[in-house]
Amino acid sequence: MPVLVTSRAGGVSVPPFGGLNLGDHVGDAEDAVAANRRRLAERLRMPVQYMRQVHGTRVVVAREPAPPPEADALVTDVPGLALAVMVADCAPVLFESPTAVGVAHAGRAGMTDGVIDATLAAFDRLGVPADRLTVTIGPCVCAGCYEVPAELRREVEQRVPGSAAATRRGTAAIDLRAGIHHQLTAAGVTDIAVATRCTAEDPELYSYRRDGRTGRFAGVAWLGSAA
Ligand SMILES: [Zn+2]
Repeated sequence: MPVLVTSRAGGVSVPPFGGLNLGDHVGDAEDAVAANRRRLAERLRMPVQYMRQVHGTRVVVAREPAPPPEADALVTDVPGLALAVMVADCAPVLFESPTAVGVAHAGRAGMTDGVIDATLAAFDRLGVPADRLTVTIGPCVCAGCYEVPAELRREVEQRVPGSAAATRRGTAAIDLRAGIHHQLTAAGVTDIAVATRCTAEDPELYSYRRDGRTGRFAGVAWLGSAA
């Protein structure tokens, strides 16, 4: 039931996608993305299932490799199929248990609209209650770097308590980590790890807010023993 988070390291893409860009929707060369994805699958020694992410809340149960479904979360109870969520500032949220794993794409929109609750509901249907999950909130843009209009901060805070924050300059911000952590805790998840790396500050990670045209790194979860 391991998880991992990739970075730029080990890839073939050239700037501005430099490194292990796994996003096939960002303007990078198709053959470079394919080579990067092949490297990840070889490292894991299993196929990797991607999604066509739309900042929504749809969860798909994946049991065999398939064309990427339109979804923002994947879960599986099948060993040997890795699940990937691509990000560059949004939070990759990784779910582990002995019998099922999952990934979710939680940016401001997905978090606010309920992708975390939707993913937890999918685990429940697979027989894994929230209190049996280990959840990792992976690297995302930190509150200090995530400036938003004050009105948007207020709207999001109403729906996701704990998400309102301030930037380092004191302007309105959203704290994705805090908001997602609050949602997980409210739903009964007790085993939560939070990555401290900020995408907008760490040059080893892709950041859309910092760079605009750039790649995507991935959070990956799988059942089984590889890698
Ligand atoms: Zn930051």
